Amino acid sequence: MRAKLQTTMQTKIRKVLAREVLDSRGFPTIEVELFIDDPKHTGEFLRGSAIVPSGSSTGEGEALELRDNDKKRYMGKGVLTAVANVREKIAPAIIDREFSKQTLFDDHLRQLDGTENKSNLGANAILAVSMAFARARAQAEGLPLYRSLAQIYGAQANILPVPLMNILNGGKHAENGLAIQEFMIVPVGFTKFSEALRAGSEVFHSLKKLLHTRGLSTGVGDEGGFAPVFDGVHPHEHVISSIIQAIEMAGYKPGKDILLALDCAASEFADKIETVGAGDASYNYRFEGKVLSSIEMIAIYKKWVETYPIVSIEDGLAEHDWAGWDKITQILGNDCQLVGDDLFVTNTQYLKRGIEKKIANAILIKLNQIGTVTETLETMKLAASAGFAQISSHRSGESEDTFIADLAVATDCGQIKTGSLSRTDRLAKYNQLLRIEESLGTLAKYGTGVLKPKRG
Ligand code: PGA
Ligand code: ZN
Repeated sequence: MRAKLQTTMQTKIRKVLAREVLDSRGFPTIEVELFIDDPKHTGEFLRGSAIVPSGSSTGEGEALELRDNDKKRYMGKGVLTAVANVREKIAPAIIDREFSKQTLFDDHLRQLDGTENKSNLGANAILAVSMAFARARAQAEGLPLYRSLAQIYGAQANILPVPLMNILNGGKHAENGLAIQEFMIVPVGFTKFSEALRAGSEVFHSLKKLLHTRGLSTGVGDEGGFAPVFDGVHPHEHVISSIIQAIEMAGYKPGKDILLALDCAASEFADKIETVGAGDASYNYRFEGKVLSSIEMIAIYKKWVETYPIVSIEDGLAEHDWAGWDKITQILGNDCQLVGDDLFVTNTQYLKRGIEKKIANAILIKLNQIGTVTETLETMKLAASAGFAQISSHRSGESEDTFIADLAVATDCGQIKTGSLSRTDRLAKYNQLLRIEESLGTLAKYGTGVLKPKRG
């Protein structure tokens, strides 16, 4: 696999800057600027920079996000230690050194850290440097980032991803009592990304009108989707039917033009049941005032998939509920994209287990779950070779950095998840995709082949 992830050109690192900046929630994160020699020998430096994102409903297997835990600064969330690690440990180990490939650069960073989960230097520190290097290299090659990454990955890089747009937030990203974290619209009935984006925006604004008419809040959650409190015994279905209504209000056909997707982030409402003996543990789910088994939870999803145009369910069960995941894949795996986020944490080790055990059929890709560009691309390659769909994804804590938009196009993965149609941290990625679509011109394809309507 490695052989495909290579392009060669000597890149000499000259200067590395690191600083604490703020993310979309107003918490610190790390920004790195990396300067390299211009290969054209102009004597100028070329610059690549990156800001890393941060999750809140994180998977246990994620690489370590290093925080200062100094309660006197930013509620303990400062990243000055990670910044110092870049300045004092990473920079001296890479400055004035030449690296011919992203893989070799990232291997060097991993060796410097020396731990499985990057807990020594911090995955946030390492990833910021890795992404900044990728951008600097693209500069040196005279290529846009998506083209440069595509050379490493070995893809055509002409497919604009279908966005899974989270227009209604629940779970940990809102305080509205909904167990399920993300209710997404998936505009597939379009030939261009820009038209799909327009449809998404129109549905978002129709939903706003609808919520307003019903006297519900139109304030937004962490990912820019609305976060109203829905009353009643079945608030989740109330949300789904409201979104379907908003799609119709905007003049589109639910199930044809626009499909639905969920990210349940079920680890957040699951409890492990103490069991005796060997085998996978069992889990209970606190859902709509009841305590449900995995099977009962799956029955709800099954009913929804049969009733509504839901084509993708992410983390429908808890990340350690492998027995439940086995069942949900058997029951829904042919009708629905089943996405592992907390389950796989963008890590080949966990993904391999999923592939071997035939669990899930898609993977969410988050650079900061694993901590380098190279490992992210390796996970995507492995997923692709096993026939798993891949979704390039943001985190709930984001910034103006648009790396994931380029990553989606670079790998032809066909899907992106980057939030709602409000908040610049989310729209920055959509806007970057508009630019890429424009630059590809007639070569651009819109990735509707990945998620198809089930009927109609
Ligand atoms: P997170 O949420 O960034 O808070 O983990 C996003 C997701 O679960 O997909
Ligand atoms: Zn998720």
